[in-house]
Amino acid sequence: MSQPSASSAAPATEDFTPGRPFVFRNATVLTMDPSSGLLRGGDVLVVDERIAEVGTGLAVPDGTVEIDASDGILMPGMVDTHRHMWQTALRGFGADWTLTNYFHFYYLNWGKIFRPQDIYAGNLLAAIEAVDAGVTTTVDWSHGLQTVDHAEAAVDALEEVPGRFVLAYGNLLGAPWEWSRSREFRDFVARRMDGRGDMLGMQLAFDVTGDPSFPEKGAFESARELGLPVTTHAGVWGATNDDGIRLMSEHGFMDDKVIYVHAASLSDDSYQRIAASGAYTSVSTESEQSAGQGYPPTWRLRRHDIPISLSMDTSVWWSGDLFSAMRATLSADRVREHLEAHNRQETVVGCHLRAEHVVAYATTGGAAALGMSHLIGSITPGKKADLVLIKNDSSPVMFPVLHPYGHVVYQAGRGDVHTVVINGKVVKYDHELRGVDLAKAKRAVAETVEYARSRMGEGAWDQAMNPEIPKVELIPNPYTYTDWDGGRG
Ligand SMILES: [Zn+2]
Repeated sequence: MSQPSASSAAPATEDFTPGRPFVFRNATVLTMDPSSGLLRGGDVLVVDERIAEVGTGLAVPDGTVEIDASDGILMPGMVDTHRHMWQTALRGFGADWTLTNYFHFYYLNWGKIFRPQDIYAGNLLAAIEAVDAGVTTTVDWSHGLQTVDHAEAAVDALEEVPGRFVLAYGNLLGAPWEWSRSREFRDFVARRMDGRGDMLGMQLAFDVTGDPSFPEKGAFESARELGLPVTTHAGVWGATNDDGIRLMSEHGFMDDKVIYVHAASLSDDSYQRIAASGAYTSVSTESEQSAGQGYPPTWRLRRHDIPISLSMDTSVWWSGDLFSAMRATLSADRVREHLEAHNRQETVVGCHLRAEHVVAYATTGGAAALGMSHLIGSITPGKKADLVLIKNDSSPVMFPVLHPYGHVVYQAGRGDVHTVVINGKVVKYDHELRGVDLAKAKRAVAETVEYARSRMGEGAWDQAMNPEIPKVELIPNPYTYTDWDGGRG
């Protein structure tokens, strides 16, 4: 065993070889484990796939690689519980969209043109992006799987990147009670998904329309037969509402294996049903703020004691990092609390939601939502080593670190992600990704962009990216003299 040494040189990237332990030294450690809390000057030792020890001044096995984490924050890998990774192929295209524009684009017009190689391209770039930003587990809410070939392509990409993923299998152009029962789908599950362990999980992804005949019953039964959780966009203004929740409840499909994505525009009755079922929510604040599903719901979910995880939804509009999700969520919750108080002629004198809470949503919350709390979500000895070191010695923003949770939420960004460890493997070190082929992903995405643009035609492409701006009705101002012409006669 060896003691911490002040003189050891910074490791080179080739020092991280399989089986060789490594230790983070002198970090501010946000364990997110209630029994250990926050550790200043903390060390975290990783042996094989797991966190071996957490403490200060740890003695470590001879040959352990030492990472100097001084002035850095070490936190658990972040978990995104809902990301349409295939849509990363058109990153940023929908920056000025509403949900209506989105539905027109993917559901009514252009979703069908995406080929298996386009799903692959988007997934590959999205998977690399997630790992790079310290999102160590990502649910690929993959609703562009028109055929099993598309699904094969989605999984091919996920398996090429050393991240932890969950394929949420969906098909926005098909009926879930049909495709989830098909032989091809069942064969795919057996061939590609079964027995993949904790690096590649699976969910069923479909929405509940509120049709009183509840056609989704067959899809829920498929999920039960296959032992898969269901993830569903719920409480989306104009699309899914309380009827869907009530139907699920009446048919006995509300349990703790369901994740309610957005859960934004629901009644207290629906929130009470969700709370009683023990299910998790996936809040995509940047999405809800801009697309129009409803107000980001954490301010209501908290009052119903409904557990929360975070997600970013889609890079066709928003950022793919959870720093932005945490920041947006904390701000949206606070602004709502202030506005509600102002409407009562009151003043909020203490914030209910704290920075630490949204860091928990992004880590332990995500792990719990995926049923993976025993494996990931906190820096706890024995758990899988999914870790993020936020450290950037050349940035003025990473000093001083006085309130570490607040620093993660309001100061740090993806550019400050120094090291990422997934399943005990160093996949990013000193701001450089290891073992991923970004150039290949960019080439694949460039081909998809070229293809989509030519299939759509220049006119449709431009029109889809730049929807018409509705006319603003100006409010009459009594302080302006519209009948006065400035004396010009
Ligand atoms: Zn979504």
